[in-house]
Amino acid sequence: MLEVGYLRLDNPIAVISSYHNPASNGAAGLFLLDGFDLDDVSVSVVESCLRDLDRMNEPDGAAIGLSVTCSTDEPLMEAARLASSRLCLLDLKFTKIGDPLRLLDLISQLKRTGVTLSVRIRPEDLTDDLLRCLKETDLDLIHLDLRGLNGAGPKIVKKAADERGPAIMALADVGEFDDAKKLLSMGADVVSLRGADPEFAEWLSGAMKEYDSIIGWCNAPKHICAGGDLRGLAFCCPPVKHCAVLGALKRAGMTPEEFVERKLCLAKGTPLEKGDGTCFGSFVWCCKITKPCYLRDAALSRAGLSGKEYMTLKKKLAEGLLKNS
Ligand code: SF4
Ligand code: SF4
Repeated sequence: MLEVGYLRLDNPIAVISSYHNPASNGAAGLFLLDGFDLDDVSVSVVESCLRDLDRMNEPDGAAIGLSVTCSTDEPLMEAARLASSRLCLLDLKFTKIGDPLRLLDLISQLKRTGVTLSVRIRPEDLTDDLLRCLKETDLDLIHLDLRGLNGAGPKIVKKAADERGPAIMALADVGEFDDAKKLLSMGADVVSLRGADPEFAEWLSGAMKEYDSIIGWCNAPKHICAGGDLRGLAFCCPPVKHCAVLGALKRAGMTPEEFVERKLCLAKGTPLEKGDGTCFGSFVWCCKITKPCYLRDAALSRAGLSGKEYMTLKKKLAEGLLKNS
């Protein structure tokens, strides 16, 4: 279950569908109605689309989002008030907003309505400065439009995730489970699909739910030395040798000593403290569950911890490590 603002997503897949022909399969965590250009249509059209969904009782269980853009502010404010009152995500497309200063001003105005807000933006528009500025706002999600980037998407996700600002939704060309998993393991919280085959979207949503129920952290990062984002510090050993952890700690703004102290302090009193027989005597320094290791697995079994419980604890550890670092 992912919580962003007032949204509750039971899986990390979002389906984007034109409001002219909404095709929901009910299985995705988020169903985004796309294409409301408020220069051309009024907010009453948005409202009537929501009423139609209510009438059809769709999408069953999924959170709902509305993708909007406009060259003027007032229709966007009206849409934000509507989205907020219906507990929908407002997905603001950067096209037509154009200017980063207007975007930042709009975010603070729209957020005053209480709406859960995302900004859909292409990576070429998301400069380093803008990324840093977005971190200082109340924006809930950066919706990165990564379509057509031929494999560069995961790296862009990692860069945005390592800024540790708003949650990340990645819109990408996803053709199989591994495409979505790669984006999630680089720091995306949600993967959105546009124009995907409804059966595939339904299968992927179910597969992600299943994966999460087995592994306990469906967007678990890769190890830092395998190119993972900063959350991967949860799987790092003590920084005793010259390896990628040193660069990661620098990016996280932590000294190696602080890292050791913080990890030990966060693990104190939790089952991660255990781990006799592992390389460093404690699970707090152990690798991701998907990395085969008979020492860790034997210690987990002695400690009565399942792989899923272990990963859930590592997830909390990652959150604690990166909080205010
Ligand atoms: S500390 Fe261990 S897991 Fe982390 S980057 Fe270095 S070798 Fe990889
Ligand atoms: S015991 Fe296994 S899981 Fe733990 S640090 Fe050593 S190799 Fe990694």
